[in-house]
Amino acid sequence: MSAGVPESAKRGTWASVARWFDGWAVAESRRDSAEKVDWLRITPFLLLHVAALGTIFTGAGFVAVGTAIGLYFVRLFAITGFYHRYFSHRAYKTNRFWQFVFAILGNAAAQRGPLWWAAHHRFHHKHADETVDRHSPRQRGFWWSHTGWFTARSNFRTDLESVRDLAKYPELVFLDRFAGLVPALLFAALYGVGFWAEHSAPHLRTNGLQMLTWGILSTVVLYHVTYTINSLAHVYGNRRYQTTDDSRNNLWLALLTLGEGWHNNHHRYQASARNGFFAREIDVTWYALKLLERIGVIRDLVPVPESVLAEGRAADAASAPRSSSPMS
Ligand SMILES: [Zn+2]
Ligand SMILES: [Zn+2]
Repeated sequence: MSAGVPESAKRGTWASVARWFDGWAVAESRRDSAEKVDWLRITPFLLLHVAALGTIFTGAGFVAVGTAIGLYFVRLFAITGFYHRYFSHRAYKTNRFWQFVFAILGNAAAQRGPLWWAAHHRFHHKHADETVDRHSPRQRGFWWSHTGWFTARSNFRTDLESVRDLAKYPELVFLDRFAGLVPALLFAALYGVGFWAEHSAPHLRTNGLQMLTWGILSTVVLYHVTYTINSLAHVYGNRRYQTTDDSRNNLWLALLTLGEGWHNNHHRYQASARNGFFAREIDVTWYALKLLERIGVIRDLVPVPESVLAEGRAADAASAPRSSSPMS
């Protein structure tokens, strides 16, 4: 045995690498509760940022850019409509087949598994902006709430206790444990389609590397747009509801995130499938969910109670400018 490297460190290195593939590999140890960035484990995440820069060298083709934009919106909706409003908040119902499809689509955004995502998000709602909140900008500032928190050793674990309603489905547990599988298959498929196009359909003017790098860029942009809800929606915007946290309503974030920017509304009444509580509050996720309801994919969308709407109207009226004089 070579001297110098302690056994626990070797084991830690092995655990970080093994967990790239299997999030449950290697039994948990005390190291796993440290609030320290696990640099080795987040290497794939960092490499995706570097690979996204590859688009500079592979160039912009119509098919590759179009695919990246399409993948961006489908997966953003999978995060907001499925990972957030369905898996985390159970804001509507669906059957087991569609639930699995939703989990695969959410997984394709490479933001870990549905159980991990829901467990951490439920914890956030329980303790929003308190000292134990894992991604509170009030407690730890912008960068920690944006990206730091989920790179920490202590936040890789999925607390199965808080997602028992989801953990009873083995297919969801599988996707949570092997959370890199769907993104890896997506990237391989993008490369494969591009490779095929280059050799068999040259009029599409793309190739494997171009499709792959644009798919990765789409993933990286999607990362940082999702993170704004943790880092910015608790700092910038207005507070219609005097919740115990710092959550805000922010039109720009709502437009950017398909409706998640109505974050103060959401912290006031998290069970609702709707985050834009009033018709003027654009909530694209809600419109898309209504469409899925209409075609029979989902059902029983939880509405905002009339009492919460009335409370909101009263708060808006109280904060409206009082100087308005009758128009002449
Ligand atoms: Zn929040
Ligand atoms: Zn939420």
